[in-house]
Amino acid sequence: MAIRFDGRVAIVTGAGNGLGRAHALGLASRGAKVVVNDFGGARDGTGGSLSPAETVVEEIRKAGGTAMADGADVSNFEQVTAMVERATKEWGSVDLLCANAGILRDKSFAKLEVADWAKVLDVHLTGSFYCCKAVWAGMRERNYGRIVLTTSSSGLFGNFGQANYGAAKAGMVGLMNVLAEEGRKNNIKVNTISPTAATRMTEELLPPQALALMKPEAITPAVEFLLSEDAPTRTIMGAGAGSFAVIRVLETEGV
Ligand code: ADP
Repeated sequence: MAIRFDGRVAIVTGAGNGLGRAHALGLASRGAKVVVNDFGGARDGTGGSLSPAETVVEEIRKAGGTAMADGADVSNFEQVTAMVERATKEWGSVDLLCANAGILRDKSFAKLEVADWAKVLDVHLTGSFYCCKAVWAGMRERNYGRIVLTTSSSGLFGNFGQANYGAAKAGMVGLMNVLAEEGRKNNIKVNTISPTAATRMTEELLPPQALALMKPEAITPAVEFLLSEDAPTRTIMGAGAGSFAVIRVLETEGV
């Protein structure tokens, strides 16, 4: 049966571009009300004076979906809390969280500055913590929650020049492992997805033939599965173009 999210409220962070945008469009097309979060400012060109998040909201509305834009910086807890409060006030709850906002500051370890470390850890790891923290109490209260953290093979196996990014992504797996256990009794399921797709983050890393195949939309079905009623929990899911594979399942309940 096709996955539906009617009546559910989702927050997708970093949804102005790439993967987050694809996930926001996908969730909205399946009935979720979506908070399209991105801290990016007005885009040059086609979007005119609209920010990337507002542009995605327009796309969703044109397709008949329901969405609101939010410009919270995920590395700022007050802004993240305000975003969750806004969504809860408007739509009654936050049921689904896709923590996807991200940046890169790739440098060989010899050249990596303290600030490059701190910035990447702040956005990915602390930002994921802030988002989970801000939605957690409401999810516990309502006995329902689905959380997906976007991680990376870089956090499992390492990539040259990504000590900061890899450490942040590995940290997010650690966060997921504990939240998955602590959420269990309140029907909160927490997973990670480790995608390979053509985005601004990967355009310099992947060969052009691979980029042509690896549209962000190819990852969205895996995310939708992990946010669905029947989601597993405590999974690290690897997803590529047109297919996805579970790298490790620690808990097979619901699969
Ligand atoms: P990918 O699709 O691989 O995640 P992108 O760079 O295309 O990579 O998308 C990441 C998105 O995350 C960008 O739109 C960026 O503006 C957003 N982003 C980065 N840092 C933050 C932050 N601190 N808060 C909210 N959004 C952020």
